[in-house]
Amino acid sequence: MLPALLELRSDGHVHTSFCRHAIGTMEEYVLAAINKGLRHLVFLEHMESGIEYFDTTWLSESDFDDFFEEGDQLRKRYQDRLEIGLGVELGYNPVHRDELLARIKKRSWDRIGISYHYCWHPDFPYHLNLVSRKKWNIDAINQVGCDQLLHHYFDTLIEAVRLLPGTVLCHLDAGLRYQPELHFSKAHSEKIAVLLDTVKAKGMAIEINTSGFAIRGEPFPATQFVKMAIDRKIPLVAGSDAHKPEDVGNHFDRLPDFINAGIHP
Ligand SMILES: [Zn+2]
Ligand SMILES: [Zn+2]
Repeated sequence: MLPALLELRSDGHVHTSFCRHAIGTMEEYVLAAINKGLRHLVFLEHMESGIEYFDTTWLSESDFDDFFEEGDQLRKRYQDRLEIGLGVELGYNPVHRDELLARIKKRSWDRIGISYHYCWHPDFPYHLNLVSRKKWNIDAINQVGCDQLLHHYFDTLIEAVRLLPGTVLCHLDAGLRYQPELHFSKAHSEKIAVLLDTVKAKGMAIEINTSGFAIRGEPFPATQFVKMAIDRKIPLVAGSDAHKPEDVGNHFDRLPDFINAGIHP
C-alpha cells in the first residue's frame, strides 16, 4: 500500500528557462501540469553563491524578482485549476553559507529544497559539478576519486541540512550519478543513515526524484535508501526535476510499485 505521505498529483520540483539550462516558460509548465491532471506544482529554481564555473546554471537575484512576479501572476490566473508553489533549490556552498542564508531570508518560499551540486577542489580552475554528464566533470571527478568524493558529497549534505532552513532534501543519492560503475559502499550507507537522521531531526521531507528512472532505472534515492527513510517515518514528496515542460510528472505512474518494493522488499 502506498503511504499516504506521498502525493502523486503533486510535482514538487521543476525548472524553467530562468536557470539557463532548462527550456520552457513557467506558464508552459503550469499548462503541462494541468494537462497531466496534477493538482499542485512547485517551481524549485536554482540558487547558488560563489561558484566558479564555465556555465551559469542558476538564477541571479534579479531573475528571482522576475520569477516571483511571473509566479504570482500565474497563481492568480490558474488559481481554480492548479496550486502553484514558488520555491528554491538551494545549492550549498560551505564557503558562502552566510550569503546564502541572507538571500534565503529575503523572500517567502513555499519550499526550500537542499542540494549540493558544486564542489571546490584546488587542482581545478572551476568547481566540479557533481551531478553533470559533461566530460570535463566526469574526468575531473575520476581524477579526484569517486569514493572520496561521495564521502565528501554526503558529509557536505549533512552540514547543509543542519545549517540551512530547508524543507526538503533533493535527489539524495544523485551525486556522481553519471560516473560509470558508481558503487555505494557500506560506509556510504552509514553516512546516508546519519543524513536521514538529520533530515528527520529537522522535520524535513525526502524527495523521490523521478529523473533517476531515465538515468538508472530507479529514482533518486534508490530503494534501499527510501526504505531507510520510511523506517524513520520521514515524509516523502515526489519531484520530476523536469527541465522541459513535457517532463512534468514524468514516471510518477511508476512510483507506487517502487515505494511498495521499498516497504515490502
Ligand atoms: Zn539538483
Ligand atoms: Zn533540480
